[in-house]
Amino acid sequence: MGSRIPKLSLAPERCFGASLRTIVNQAHGTRLGKRQEESSSMTKQPAQDSPTRSASGYDLTPPTDAEKAVLTADLDAEERRVILAHGTERPFCGGLLEEKREGMFACRLCGLPLFRSGSKFESGTGWPSFHTPFDPDHLRYLRDGSHGMVRTEIRCRRCDGHLGHVFEDGPAPTGLRYCLNSVSLKFAEQPTDNQ
Ligand SMILES: [Zn+2]
Repeated sequence: MGSRIPKLSLAPERCFGASLRTIVNQAHGTRLGKRQEESSSMTKQPAQDSPTRSASGYDLTPPTDAEKAVLTADLDAEERRVILAHGTERPFCGGLLEEKREGMFACRLCGLPLFRSGSKFESGTGWPSFHTPFDPDHLRYLRDGSHGMVRTEIRCRRCDGHLGHVFEDGPAPTGLRYCLNSVSLKFAEQPTDNQ
């Protein structure tokens, strides 16, 4: 239990895409322990290569269309714009930016755990920011070339809901900054370990 989060070695590569891909593949390889061929694991996930259960034990089977219709039924216009249409909420406007309680940030749609409160940090960007995912298997990474930039989009691995982006300017231990939209998350308070 104590080694759930793999330590990510950060090679000082200059190329953003290659470096992040290396990091992500390292994380996945560490967690799955069986991925021999990593070249396409980041952007394309062939069906036969997608685990149905994450290393931390969560079912990653995508919801059916009918189930997704139920999950998305109560989304408001802003939530639909961000989660379903890959939009970005305005900075300093999200409801979870100032959330400092002990707990878990999970996918707004399907409830898959994504980030522990202990990995949240103040990035100054105006969006909730985390340095370490709860389980790297719970995120899907896609190249995003919109708005004249090359970024790495993150989505929920289970329901494919848009979460935000990940950048390489985060703090230790990963050096990564997972930049999230508040509306893509729901927070659940948890007791601390010594309670
Ligand atoms: Zn989800």
